[in-house]
Amino acid sequence: MELDLRHMSAATAPQRPSLIGLMPAQIAASLRAIGLEEKPAKMRSHQIFRWLYHQGVHDFSQMTNLGKEYRAQLGDHFDLGRPDLVEKQVSKDGTRKYLIRFASGVEAEAVFIPGVGRAGALCVSSQVGCTLNCTFCHTGSQLLVRNLTAGEIVAQLLLVRDDLEEWPTPSEGRQITNIVFMGMGEPLYNTDNVLAALDILSDCEGISISRRRITVSTSGIVPQMHVLGEQGHAMLAISLHAVRDELRNQLVPINKKYPLAMLLDACRNYPGASNARRITFEYVMLKDVNDSNAEARELVRLLAGIPAKINLIPFNPWPGAPYECSSWERIEAFAEIVNKAGYSSPIRTPRGRDIAAACGQLKSQSVKQRASKLRRSIS
Ligand code: SAH
Ligand code: SF4
Repeated sequence: MELDLRHMSAATAPQRPSLIGLMPAQIAASLRAIGLEEKPAKMRSHQIFRWLYHQGVHDFSQMTNLGKEYRAQLGDHFDLGRPDLVEKQVSKDGTRKYLIRFASGVEAEAVFIPGVGRAGALCVSSQVGCTLNCTFCHTGSQLLVRNLTAGEIVAQLLLVRDDLEEWPTPSEGRQITNIVFMGMGEPLYNTDNVLAALDILSDCEGISISRRRITVSTSGIVPQMHVLGEQGHAMLAISLHAVRDELRNQLVPINKKYPLAMLLDACRNYPGASNARRITFEYVMLKDVNDSNAEARELVRLLAGIPAKINLIPFNPWPGAPYECSSWERIEAFAEIVNKAGYSSPIRTPRGRDIAAACGQLKSQSVKQRASKLRRSIS
């Protein structure tokens, strides 16, 4: 039997602390900790931040405005390593899915979805797996769960930018123009790291993606929503999926803790929401479960008074899923009611279905692959 040593070496290798995931002030603190005085530490921290997030360097040796000895010293104490790209799959529609392994050996996925022209969204994971068990979502059934650090969240973008060869950070004509926290995990169960990642992703010295172009999607962790709005200033998306508590309790079980009335109240009070900054309500279309005309009308009624957009998502099937996607006619009829009420309700075209990169399909492949790798190694 051959052991898969790649997992073990990643999990057991001694780690120098990484500077990825730190804002300049925190980098400065790390520099002071290795003996640099206050003023130079502050200046150096900004230079390093720019190298990391504007130039996208992988190595201290590339930081050519720092002295040679100094770079060596940094290399002795800190790490800048990217996580490992385990696998990249490119869909027929251009969607790219990346399976990424972090230093501790855990894996998560990021998906790049090219849009119209050169606009494109990067979908990042905030956790490995998810502790919430939404019944239509495959990620929720993954056993292994842990929060990703701010550095690990940001590193997903770094790695995809490497692949798209998009360094230094372009000011115009970028491929990654938007970021959505719609990969694996519940971002508001990892709020501190998500907030720290937002600071880095939006900082104009580096990656410089405006917070208006960063959307955090939540299943509705009510107490954290205010924190995200006040401190993160990100756009909010709510995974609504049902208009009655009884059904939402089944589909999105966290609803038992934070029921619809409470969730919608938190949306009404979301800091910064306005007609120019609408909250997106995601609604997955499940055949004969939540897709009737009556439910469309109730949806409109519930959202009255909230600056809202409605995103209808055709259900993406996965092996053994207990649901089917609504028919196209049903989705259109549902959309028409919502449109007539004055909401733009784009039906989200499923992207990357052929590589299981669509919403709610994440997890499966990495776990399955591990299983098949294991089978191969045992036989
Ligand atoms: N945990 C967060 C963010 C990740 S899920 C949340 O739940 O919002 C991102 C989006 O994909 C959510 O709207 C989620 O409800 C949706 N989704 C999950 N599984 C899906 C599936 N099988 N088909 C379509 N959308 C799905
Ligand atoms: Fe977790 Fe979101 Fe999937 Fe629900 S839909 S299980 S909250 S990732």
